[in-house]
Amino acid sequence: MTMYSHILLSLQFSTADDAVAAKAQTICQQHAARLSLIHVLDNIPMPDTAYGTAITLEQPKDDPLLAAEKAKLLTWGKRLGVANENLWLIWGIPNQEITRIAKQENIDLIIVGSHERHGLGWLLGSTADGVLHHAPCDVLAVRLAED
Ligand code: AMP
Repeated sequence: MTMYSHILLSLQFSTADDAVAAKAQTICQQHAARLSLIHVLDNIPMPDTAYGTAITLEQPKDDPLLAAEKAKLLTWGKRLGVANENLWLIWGIPNQEITRIAKQENIDLIIVGSHERHGLGWLLGSTADGVLHHAPCDVLAVRLAED
């Protein structure tokens, strides 16, 4: 019996992604699941309201910041063998957009990285915390080593 059929891997575009992606790949293979990738643009200005919050990967004219983020997602897609239609580049707040796309796409497992939190970081919470609170499905929080 396969438990998961559609897995959403959330990528931060940091060194943490390698460990999280490796787990996601293994679990996908074990369950013969489809894999989708998401990155939420939370650190660059929203490019143009005509885009909506979902960024079209095929859009030809981009500002350099956005083009760089698209290139990173497309590279991850190639690396993990994920078709462009399963790549999500969304502008917004990471935990909200990750759970929104999970609902929209009938995801049954979300995979996120999880750092140990100290001090203010503990008070502010993490993306993994936010995803856990709002997810419509199971969540795997992959514990990340301290830098
Ligand atoms: P953080 O709580 O910000 O340290 O991030 C931990 C994990 O949340 C990362 O390993 C990613 O799985 C996910 N995450 C954080 N920021 C983003 C983002 N902008 N887009 C997609 N996933 C993210």
